[in-house]
Amino acid sequence: MNNIFVYIETENGKVADVSLELLTKGRELANTLGCKLEAIVIGHNLKGLEKELALYGADTVWVADDKELAPYRTMPHCAIVCGVFEQEKPQIALFGASSLGRDLGPRVSSALHSGLTADCTSLVVGDHEDTKGNKYKNLLYQIRPAFGGNIIATIINPDCRPQMATVREGVMKKEHASKPGTGEVKVIDHKKYLKDTDLAVKIVSRQIEERKLNIKGAQVIVSGGYGVGSKDNFKLLYELAEVLGGEVGASRAAVDAGFAEHARQVGQTGVTVRPKLYIACGISGQIQHTAGMDQSAMIISINTDPEAPVSKLADYVITGDLNEVIPKMIKYYRQNSK
Ligand SMILES: Cc1cc2nc3c(=O)[nH]c(=O)nc-3n(C[C@H](O)[C@H](O)[C@H](O)COP(=O)(O)OP(=O)(O)OC[C@H]3O[C@@H](n4cnc5c(N)ncnc54)[C@H](O)[C@@H]3O)c2cc1C
Repeated sequence: MNNIFVYIETENGKVADVSLELLTKGRELANTLGCKLEAIVIGHNLKGLEKELALYGADTVWVADDKELAPYRTMPHCAIVCGVFEQEKPQIALFGASSLGRDLGPRVSSALHSGLTADCTSLVVGDHEDTKGNKYKNLLYQIRPAFGGNIIATIINPDCRPQMATVREGVMKKEHASKPGTGEVKVIDHKKYLKDTDLAVKIVSRQIEERKLNIKGAQVIVSGGYGVGSKDNFKLLYELAEVLGGEVGASRAAVDAGFAEHARQVGQTGVTVRPKLYIACGISGQIQHTAGMDQSAMIISINTDPEAPVSKLADYVITGDLNEVIPKMIKYYRQNSK
């Protein structure tokens, strides 16, 4: 009872990365709280999935396996999750801030009157004392940028359970647990939670377009900001990225100016990346951008302004015009790697 639940998204038998990232974080929180980590997976042909989930620390895997339950539909998944949560009374429930999680999480939270913090960038356990002197132990700090990213807010939910949060893909690390969970399967008697009306919506046809561009997996990202100046100038960044075997990213200002496509946008409203090397070219380093790249192993900034906020974060700062610096980097990298 009062464990941590993670809703597991699957597509054609593959578990979504965001769900494995949430299990990794869930395992850490469960260790801190001394409770179990439970996964809930709803769909069809799910046999064997528990082994993978156990590797990421799941002690229990709640499974509702029925051809009626795949692909995802809001109403049946919501009814089943609510049914299990009402029975098991988790203290924390985590969902991916994916299109599915953004659809399902708020419905579950609304049905259970629990509240939910969307798009958390960090989740930590801590205590709280309110202004009336009431003390709360071991709450979930749901941390995220707020007011347009001008502050980092820590949101708590002292009274209602579960404490619910969504987290975007790439924000948390995905790692096997140091000690795997037992992955004990608990079959959900899902029919008892479903009404006929939950199944009223039929999926007639479904088309999924694969993401054409995914900079998330790149080990090297050469990212350009408004300071790059034009779409044409971005060619320099593509050249450097090619030489280094990396991908090109962009700030929102660069995307808004039409220098790069939205799929390349890094940050709060773009993708979250954690490459081995992130080269920020003509990017000032506003918090909405850095929220998406500050976990990079090494950051190099190229900027004409030595005081640009990105300098505080960067391991190496090159003060200069990117139009001069990047061609030199390409030239010397080519020379030195012969
Ligand atoms: C709700 C919300 C969500 C947001 N989400 C995101 C997001 O996901 N990602 C994101 O990036 N932003 C996001 N933003 C926008 C963010 O606040 C900044 O406006 C944006 O990141 C600035 O982009 P920039 O650094 O490219 O541009 P600027 O802030 O204009 O910086 C340009 C930099 O280029 C330098 N420069 C100029 N010329 C050169 C040159 N020739 N050589 C080298 N350096 C040069 C300048 O010194 C400057 O530091 C969001 C904003 C809001 C309100």
